[in-house]
Amino acid sequence: MQTIMVHDKLFQPYLSAAVIDEKVSAIANQINKDYEGKHPLFIAILNGSFIFASDLFKKISIEAEICFIKLASYKGTKSTGQVITAIGLDTDLFNRHVIIIEDIVDTGKTLHEFLPQLHHQHPASLKIAALLHKPAATVHHIHVDYSGFSIPNKFVVGYGLDYSGLGRNIPEIYELVD
Ligand code: 5GP
Repeated sequence: MQTIMVHDKLFQPYLSAAVIDEKVSAIANQINKDYEGKHPLFIAILNGSFIFASDLFKKISIEAEICFIKLASYKGTKSTGQVITAIGLDTDLFNRHVIIIEDIVDTGKTLHEFLPQLHHQHPASLKIAALLHKPAATVHHIHVDYSGFSIPNKFVVGYGLDYSGLGRNIPEIYELVD
């Protein structure tokens, strides 16, 4: 098995490019069926989802739009805790069929904080497509409508996901060797 070093840590192969591609096709096919005639708006959450979003969107054959946002989190007051704001969300979501594209749902904290802000704009529907999901890490339950792989609670890199800024350009997904 070919292990690789990213920064100071050792990673081993976990999901091959072919396996990922097959899954992305399956998700795209399902979305093509579910959203025919609905002109959905994909919202890809940067940075981690950029490769998944690009590969997925290429396989979307129905009329659709995509935009990219970045989430910035800062500490609010004691009662509000962590506050998350979206940078770059300049499309009106009212009455739109929205599909969030995430790289990975880990604890679920990010989407738990962010989804109510989207619901606030009264989209016609709001669903989530996430390539990876770590059920064992759940703090806030998030229903992932289009889920690629359920994975163990291990740190992964590649296919857009980084470790300290590196590894996003690896075409496969690797997991930390512990
Ligand atoms: P959550 O708020 O669900 O805990 O975390 C979401 C974000 O944490 C993801 O979008 C991703 O950027 C980052 N993250 C969570 N788990 C991993 C992982 O195993 N590897 C990498 N590279 N990032 C992760």
